[in-house]
Amino acid sequence: MREHPPIHLNPRAPLVLDTRDLPRSPGAMRVVERVVPAPKDLGLELIHVPAGADLALTLRMESVTEGVLVSAEIQAPLAGECGRCLREISDTVDVSFQELYAYEHSTTDETTDEDEVGRIQGDLIDLEPEVRDAIVLALPTNPVCRPDCPGLCPDCGEPWDDLPADHRHEQLDSRWAALRRLAG
Ligand SMILES: [Zn+2]
Ligand SMILES: [Zn+2]
Repeated sequence: MREHPPIHLNPRAPLVLDTRDLPRSPGAMRVVERVVPAPKDLGLELIHVPAGADLALTLRMESVTEGVLVSAEIQAPLAGECGRCLREISDTVDVSFQELYAYEHSTTDETTDEDEVGRIQGDLIDLEPEVRDAIVLALPTNPVCRPDCPGLCPDCGEPWDDLPADHRHEQLDSRWAALRRLAG
């Protein structure tokens, strides 16, 4: 038997799932809905889930021979910055994942690596790694406030959206005209 490093999960931690109410007979099912505070540092440089914001989870637990199959649906609020115009973005993201958590000393437990299949520790499942992965993978590395955001005027740095349609910088325009005349 392989020994697992002792990890002491806190049954009251927001992203720890207690499976005690789920009978260990294949086919048994429970659905848990909960809203929990988001953990810290969840996201990317330009867009993230604010720490403590409401993560809405719908967790379907299903007993299978080797463990518990968890199907999770998560909705999380997002805060960030548009990569083009630098204005604030607030959005939500919906993600889902399905993961098998093997019983301790089950065949799956004995024959797979920890990073292939999750593990049930006692009666508890630590959902945080999968929740983090699912959310982070769904985030854009270059978030924009809208797909056709025109960004900033390169001369004055103001967002084009905030500028009048005929906004121009005359001085530069005439210099360009002079250059063009020289080139011609
Ligand atoms: Zn923008
Ligand atoms: Zn300008």
